[in-house]
Amino acid sequence: MIGFKKIPKKLIFIVFTISVILIFLIYIDDSSHKPLPSEIIKETESTKYEIDIIKSSAFYEVADGENISIIFEKFKVPLNTAYKIFRLDKKGQLTNIKPGDEMVFNYLGDDLINIKINKTDTSSLLIKIDENISISEIVENIEYFKSYKKGIIENSFYETAQNSGMPDSIIMDLAYIYGWDIDFVFDIRDNDEFFVIYETGFSNGERIDTGDIIAAKFVNKGKVYFANRFVQDSKKQYFDNDGNNMQKAFLRAPLEFSYISSHFNPNRMHPILHTIRAHNGVDYAAKRGSPVRSTGDGTILFIGRKSGCGNEILIKHSNDYSTRYCHLEGFAKNLNNGKKVKQGQTIGYVGSTGLATGPHLHYEFKIGEKHTDPVKVNLPSAEGIKQNYKESFNRLIEKNKSMLEEFSRL
Ligand SMILES: [Zn+2]
Repeated sequence: MIGFKKIPKKLIFIVFTISVILIFLIYIDDSSHKPLPSEIIKETESTKYEIDIIKSSAFYEVADGENISIIFEKFKVPLNTAYKIFRLDKKGQLTNIKPGDEMVFNYLGDDLINIKINKTDTSSLLIKIDENISISEIVENIEYFKSYKKGIIENSFYETAQNSGMPDSIIMDLAYIYGWDIDFVFDIRDNDEFFVIYETGFSNGERIDTGDIIAAKFVNKGKVYFANRFVQDSKKQYFDNDGNNMQKAFLRAPLEFSYISSHFNPNRMHPILHTIRAHNGVDYAAKRGSPVRSTGDGTILFIGRKSGCGNEILIKHSNDYSTRYCHLEGFAKNLNNGKKVKQGQTIGYVGSTGLATGPHLHYEFKIGEKHTDPVKVNLPSAEGIKQNYKESFNRLIEKNKSMLEEFSRL
């Protein structure tokens, strides 16, 4: 049978006692804190501050092997919200996040109001989270302004350049542009001078980027070198004031990190054959497997195995130049006879195939049929300003000249 049990008298008593005590406590609390009339305003103000909602942000850098779901979980994005965001991401922009991307989670109080994913300095994704979730791409405009720096070298180029206030990336660019003519380790002297005009990018009034060097003048051991940025055939390059390319048609060496273990020598005793045999190239000692670069643009004439040379690549360049690479451990992928290669492109790897005592690269440089010392040869310049670009190039030179003069008077 179902019925109502009689409530014990003891329980009624306890509840009653607790209630009386509570009412009493509340009364005491209220009376002791009752503000004096003069304090009333103050009290209201401080209450208002407490209600104010605090905005806060959490920053996060995407780590290796992470995807957006893992990160959402870390930041306790509600499942329901995460689901809605994924459904909206039709372009797959969120699945595209990469290690190093910066994410910012913005909160109002405890509520997540938006997530910003910075893809580059100027482009980001904004996920707004309120009743309607939205994903939008934000592209900020970069405005470039000209900056100018000059210096007279004391002790080291790098130090002087840094002291002039030039950003590191511009110092590197400058060394690269002039690196074909000036050896920045051995050729720099005290009192050498540099004058550099370069771009600095701003977005929303904030410096975000350094652009290119526009024009420069470098005085090395009394000789003046000018460099001007110019776009020819949609390729951005640097030319001197006469329109010669600052870049050479060939890299000085086919390996980035190496030392010469045997020089070009027409009367050398061969280390294995022990007879006098011309050493028609230069040997570069390097670790087995080090990437070998084509020193110039060209076409592969031969790729394969030949007895003494081992795994060999022979490249034909313009104007009857050719280069040869021997003892390779292996070849880069997708290369064959007749294939075009670019300057600096990896074509193979250092090894010891053929007649070799240890891993090294044997490199030959031929002009026509004549073997030439690649270390000493006067390397030809890369293609200069073409006829159809001359007029606009000359206009640029006049502009750059007067800019450099104007700035150097400052
Ligand atoms: Zn050799």
